[in-house]
Amino acid sequence: MATTDLKALRFPFKDPKFIFFTDFDGTITLKDSNDYMTDTIGYGAEKRKQGNKDVLDGKKNFRDAFREMMDSITRPFPQCVDYLVENITLDPHFNEYFQWALANNIPTVVVSSGMTPVIRGILQKLVGPDCDKIDIVCNEAVPRDGKSLDEEGGWQIQYHDDSGFGHDKSLTLRPYAQLPADKRPTLFYAGDGVSDLSAARETDLLFAKKGHDLITYCARENVPFTVFEDWSSILATVKQIVAGERSVQDAASQGFADYKAGKAGVEPIAALNGNAK
Ligand SMILES: [Mg+2]
Repeated sequence: MATTDLKALRFPFKDPKFIFFTDFDGTITLKDSNDYMTDTIGYGAEKRKQGNKDVLDGKKNFRDAFREMMDSITRPFPQCVDYLVENITLDPHFNEYFQWALANNIPTVVVSSGMTPVIRGILQKLVGPDCDKIDIVCNEAVPRDGKSLDEEGGWQIQYHDDSGFGHDKSLTLRPYAQLPADKRPTLFYAGDGVSDLSAARETDLLFAKKGHDLITYCARENVPFTVFEDWSSILATVKQIVAGERSVQDAASQGFADYKAGKAGVEPIAALNGNAK
């Protein structure tokens, strides 16, 4: 199992009071880069959607389904990186959030099922040199036996850990969540999908993307959350909390109220009572 050295307590700032962990694909980016790659140069959207459905129905774990998607892409890896850097764009407000976070000593840590060179490449292009101040915890691309990354069919995904998710995001967050109260920063997390749920449970305030699966999961599993549409609403909430104008508990109780009122972009399930604390 992967361990963490609590890097966010010293990089890029020492002893931060807040840490922002975030999913990458579909949360910072507008499109999911792995879905995009599978749909356009892999085995296609239909098989990908079936793979996701099999995961939701419990017929397959995410680890195996995602490997099949990545295995269907045979283009040399450096070309995949270039292709995604060209075609994936960021949430239009992410940079504004990020510059504010840097100015306020709040580390931003990306926790992703994607692969380092892809995430680095996209951030380098769209965030600029300050992207070096974002720590990235994710999967890797490695050469297949006897092959190299830059040949056709030459790469495969190497998972972060042994979990059924390939990358169990809670492993990265939990050591921070378990710090003694006087050393423990407030933990924020933003995500959109099923793989974010394990991480969601470890945070103080979860931002779940409007209209996406994570909202339904949180409502069903009683995980408190607040709904975001883009990073401008995340920034507004985080600013209020950092300024002491709003409590994390207040923000975290808002999601279920929005969900029940049909304002979270997903169909509410009437039977849920929302007694999440
Ligand atoms: Mg995502």
